[in-house]
Amino acid sequence: MKKILVTGGAGFIGSHLCKKLLDEGNDVLCIDNYFTGTKENISGLFKNTYFEAIRHDICFPLYVEVDEIYNLACPASPIHYQHDPVQTTKTTVHGAINMLGLAKRINARILQASTSEVYGDPDVHPQVESYWGNVNPIGPRSCYDEGKRCAETLFFDYNRQHNLDIKVVRIFNTYGPNMHPNDGRVVSNFIMQALTNKDITVYGNGEQTRSFCYIDDLVNGMMKMMSSEKAITGPINLGNPVEFKIIELAQMIIKLTNSKSKIINKGLPIDDPVRRRPDISKAKNDLDWEPNIDVIDGLKETIVYFKKQL
Ligand code: NAD
Ligand code: UDP
Repeated sequence: MKKILVTGGAGFIGSHLCKKLLDEGNDVLCIDNYFTGTKENISGLFKNTYFEAIRHDICFPLYVEVDEIYNLACPASPIHYQHDPVQTTKTTVHGAINMLGLAKRINARILQASTSEVYGDPDVHPQVESYWGNVNPIGPRSCYDEGKRCAETLFFDYNRQHNLDIKVVRIFNTYGPNMHPNDGRVVSNFIMQALTNKDITVYGNGEQTRSFCYIDDLVNGMMKMMSSEKAITGPINLGNPVEFKIIELAQMIIKLTNSKSKIINKGLPIDDPVRRRPDISKAKNDLDWEPNIDVIDGLKETIVYFKKQL
């Protein structure tokens, strides 16, 4: 039985990861400060004796003994990571230093939940891992983008300097149950608006694109990465390469919910990336991974979840 630490384990992705790790017979320790995660997301897991949770902010050192660490702690929604940008940089950078220091002391394998945001507003499309990105270092998204970039630097320096066993995945937009209804991200916003027949808020003209991966596919990819051979450090893109315009997503969600909502346009946030789609050749090749849940099926599951929340 492996002892596994999941930071940010009460969040959207973390709670699914904790559940899957428990289902596969591991001993799971969840660390979270509940900034954007909730106790409800993990309440069902306590019936398993091998699940425990500690309230802790990863900006402070942590002393535990585990075999593997998944470092997910960090708000992911632009609204939440911009709410306290200094704390976001502390979480991404100090948090990474603390978790890397822990991994080094106990000789644990450590996986970083990095992001497609390291590519910024990309001028290479689709995004390949070898592309260095186009990131504004001083804008409102920078606390997250540059924080995550610095975290990647730290991971690779710990690997080169201390031979630490690292894994870096760059996660593209992921959605599913356990997303916070007021999270502010596009899938949760549109579904909540559609279910309550409120206006669907498309930012800008809705021509910007994203590619949406269902949570189960992503968690499989993260676990495959963690169990890959040591030489595979990444960074590796994990996401669904099917690309949609945001306006198309709005129309799809209105149809799936039979909603009376109307689409309205609001201002486009500063530095909102115009196009985003992962090239997942590396994940296919190194991990034998690709997503297989169709976006319509994934959205239907997510709609069922949000209906229950209402
Ligand atoms: P989330 O906001 O639902 O979860 C993040 C969790 O981290 C929350 O439970 C929050 O309370 C916790 N947290 C935040 N700061 C913390 C701190 N200082 N100490 C301890 N806990 C802290 O977001 P998510 O979608 O589950 O994202 C999880 C990870 O995946 C994040 O690192 C995010 O950057 C990355 N990611 C997510 C997506 C996506 O589409 N969901 C895309 C790219 C990257
Ligand atoms: N978006 C939108 N309406 C919303 C929320 C988001 O049109 O109510 C757009 C946003 O401008 C971006 C895309 O949807 O172009 C994805 O936004 P999200 O915040 O989910 O994540 P991002 O990929 O920008 O980090």
